[in-house]
Amino acid sequence: MSAKIIDGKKISEILRTETAEAVKNRPEGTRKPGLAVIIVGDDPASKIYVNNKKKACEICGFNSYEYAMPADTSEKELLSLIDRLNNTTEVDGILCQLPLPSHIDENKVIDAISPEKDVDGFSPVNTGNLLAGKPCFAPCTPAGVVEMLKFEGIETAGKHCVIVGRSNIVGKPAALLMLRENATVTICHSRTENLPEQVKKADIVIAAIGKANFITEDMIKEGAVVIDVGINRLPDGKVTGDVDFEKVKEKAAAITPVPGGVGPMTITMLMKNTLEAWKRNL
Ligand code: NDP
Repeated sequence: MSAKIIDGKKISEILRTETAEAVKNRPEGTRKPGLAVIIVGDDPASKIYVNNKKKACEICGFNSYEYAMPADTSEKELLSLIDRLNNTTEVDGILCQLPLPSHIDENKVIDAISPEKDVDGFSPVNTGNLLAGKPCFAPCTPAGVVEMLKFEGIETAGKHCVIVGRSNIVGKPAALLMLRENATVTICHSRTENLPEQVKKADIVIAAIGKANFITEDMIKEGAVVIDVGINRLPDGKVTGDVDFEKVKEKAAAITPVPGGVGPMTITMLMKNTLEAWKRNL
């Protein structure tokens, strides 16, 4: 059996088109959604991400406001910009690209973004609401994973989902979102004993480790769904996931590739969160 390849790029295009339609057909006299993106310093990877976000805003018909600040920007200056954006009507969502230079406290910055504009879903209010099962902006990458599963009509209720990785931006929120979808959830991490045995029990595997080809076919139950969040750059410059794609795809029922799987969904969910914030502000 060869797995169905879940095409995150195609799903993203469809969802972004739907978002663009919603903006095009907005009530007469209303403004477009607005996303403010802050970047401090000139980390090349961050610049690429910010550019991709700008492009996605164009596709969706959003106004994007970019604030490129020098690396020596003080924490106070950054917090004062966030305060201004929190009070700017045209801005529905605020995103501060991480990582920040080491002299700035990331937690302080995340805490400063108004929860209503925290479209990245990292603020304590949104993470608390996610935990409590209340409406919230969920972090975009795990939200994208759930959206993909729904789009593909993959049953989650009652299924055993094993997540490898427990970071605040992927693993932990993925677990809460899968619980919300009524899956039975196991979270594995670097201290898990017998990790292959745990993963082998999964109907759905979510790999968010950051180690190329970590999940091998002997860890996968025949017919499982495998979602690969990992992004790893190999010495030859190629990008690969956390799953040994070529071998695992012969055993899984469905699998996401890297690139072209979860990656595009992350920005798509950022657009969806911003659209939602805008609707609340109309
Ligand atoms: P982190 O480094 O923050 O977390 C990695 C997790 O993997 C940790 O919980 C760690 O466990 C666990 N881990 C590491 N080694 C092992 C091991 N040998 N066995 C079991 N568990 C292990 O990474 P992120 O969560 O931020 O990202 C994970 C991957 O996803 C990365 O490749 C990243 O680039 C990618 N990513 C992709 C995104 C996308 O848009 N597609 C967005 C965000 C991330 P412990 O806690 O015990 O240390």
